[in-house]
Amino acid sequence: MQKKTVLVTGGAGFIGSHVSVELINAGYDLVVADDLSNCDMTNFEGLKQITGRDDIPFHQMTFCDEAATEKLFSENKIDAVIHFAAFKAVGESCAEPLKYYGNNLKSLINVLESARRHGCRNILFSSSCTVYGEPEKTPVTEQTPRQPATSPYGNTKQISEDILRDSVKAYGNIRGIALRYFNPIGAHPTALMGELPRGVPNNLVPYITQTAIGKRECLSVFGNDYPTPDGTNLRDYIDIVDLAKAHVCAVRRMIDDKMEADYEIFNVGTGKPASVLDLVNAFEKVSGEKLNWKFAPRRAGDVIAIWADPSLANEKLGWKAGRTIEDSLLAAWNWEKKLAR
Ligand code: UDP
Repeated sequence: MQKKTVLVTGGAGFIGSHVSVELINAGYDLVVADDLSNCDMTNFEGLKQITGRDDIPFHQMTFCDEAATEKLFSENKIDAVIHFAAFKAVGESCAEPLKYYGNNLKSLINVLESARRHGCRNILFSSSCTVYGEPEKTPVTEQTPRQPATSPYGNTKQISEDILRDSVKAYGNIRGIALRYFNPIGAHPTALMGELPRGVPNNLVPYITQTAIGKRECLSVFGNDYPTPDGTNLRDYIDIVDLAKAHVCAVRRMIDDKMEADYEIFNVGTGKPASVLDLVNAFEKVSGEKLNWKFAPRRAGDVIAIWADPSLANEKLGWKAGRTIEDSLLAAWNWEKKLAR
């Protein structure tokens, strides 16, 4: 049978590059595109090294460019698109909402228009548990009501889900899956790919590893008086390689015609809550390093506690998270040490 081709937009980034490795391992051909606005080619080089493939097509382009998007689809026969390309900094999105709405929505619309025009039926969208806001009940299922977004970034995820849902319904010639990620962490076990935050990291794990390596003075643990067992926030930290494998399952479900509706949503998480202090302790254990950290005031906008009920993905995608927080933190630490060399 002829190999199927998957377009990975934002494929040089943290999640996109890990997904690309798993797609190649699963036997798919790829077209990778990225505008490199928030990453360099490090992860793409890692992707080539891990897979031993020197021939992966790479296009430096933005999907906000309608003509370039159209050209990419006319020059390649694409069976499925995974659309990652988007801006993702919550704080920046509050300061520059038009940049976020413009980029994140325009690029999705262009991808959908070109996909439709060129007979590419299958669209996978990277959404986020941010759409649940502060849930009334945890864990959250896909039926848990979405809450009004608290940032333009979060709003672009909600609107993008709606654009995909409405387009699938109206046009009939495309179908979509939205994967709602919880908190992706870790790095590739080879230490050839990982997170490359620009400037001061916002996310917990890069902040932990950068503190341990000496790039940052001290980790601030934001808030110790939340109504949780140890007073710090609870999240569902999902290993990046596990997360990547969920995409392969979702792509296969679309390409093999196994979808039960033309638009489906799946939570991608472990189902296990972990606190900020759980991460700090697990990091110290796996790295053997003493982490310099202190309690600091709550960070504005943080939800208290959220974790996934991943049973739908377990059942329908045949996917389950397999790695522990310790596995992910060790991989992230090895990646940080490699960057320092
Ligand atoms: N956090 C922290 N210190 C930091 C960064 C994050 O205590 O320097 C906490 C944050 O308050 C939240 C958790 O770590 O409870 C995860 O934050 P992150 O920004 O990684 O992801 P979010 O859940 O906000 O998307």
